[in-house]
Amino acid sequence: MFGRLDFVKALSPEMRMRLQGLVAGFVREVNWEGRGGLQVTDEMRVSVATQACRLILGLDGEQYRWVRTVYLFPSTYSKAEMVASGGGAPEEKRSHRYGEAWMRGPVVLSWNAARQGVSNPDDGRNVVYHEFAHKLDMLDGFADGTPSLKGSAAYEAWVRIVGAEYRELVQDAERGKKTLLSKYGATNTAEFFAVATEEFFERPDRLLKRHKDLYGCLCRFYNQDPRQGRVGL
Ligand SMILES: [Zn+2]
Repeated sequence: MFGRLDFVKALSPEMRMRLQGLVAGFVREVNWEGRGGLQVTDEMRVSVATQACRLILGLDGEQYRWVRTVYLFPSTYSKAEMVASGGGAPEEKRSHRYGEAWMRGPVVLSWNAARQGVSNPDDGRNVVYHEFAHKLDMLDGFADGTPSLKGSAAYEAWVRIVGAEYRELVQDAERGKKTLLSKYGATNTAEFFAVATEEFFERPDRLLKRHKDLYGCLCRFYNQDPRQGRVGL
């Protein structure tokens, strides 16, 4: 069922079963819509669902209950937005996108980018992990980079550790320093969480080595350690 998804092999038989159940539910419940002439196939559904459900293997509840629709474009798509322009009338600006996640709304993905998450599982980039991390973050009604945590000690540690890591990335980005985490994470704390999630699942060894405390926070939130495919800590 999972084809080339390497991380599945590291899971225990029990977790593989759990993943299968989550993926089957996700494929069934979500309304899949092709855009830009794309015909959505079973391979596409299973691929996106498997990557998305990897994030919630260690979590309880219906984490993706607000994901009713997934739109798939063949490749990068462009989107027009009205942006303020130096005191004058707002101007239309087009930007190219790999994906986006809407609060209580759909997830939009470039299939080409989503597929690369499977063919390059350890380059630190994964649009599906990125957009679904946004969905987990938004579950409490705020896209602020702090997902729902258990207990005040967990929030305190998150704000202290993740906040410091975010500020460090902002500083490094300003100074043009080389960083493991994508500098896109310096955009705001929500993007930081999404970018850190990509690294956590794609290059856990490097993230642990360079950002040990951040790694610990992500392990506790996701309730899994991707290094050994261990779920439920
Ligand atoms: Zn993002």
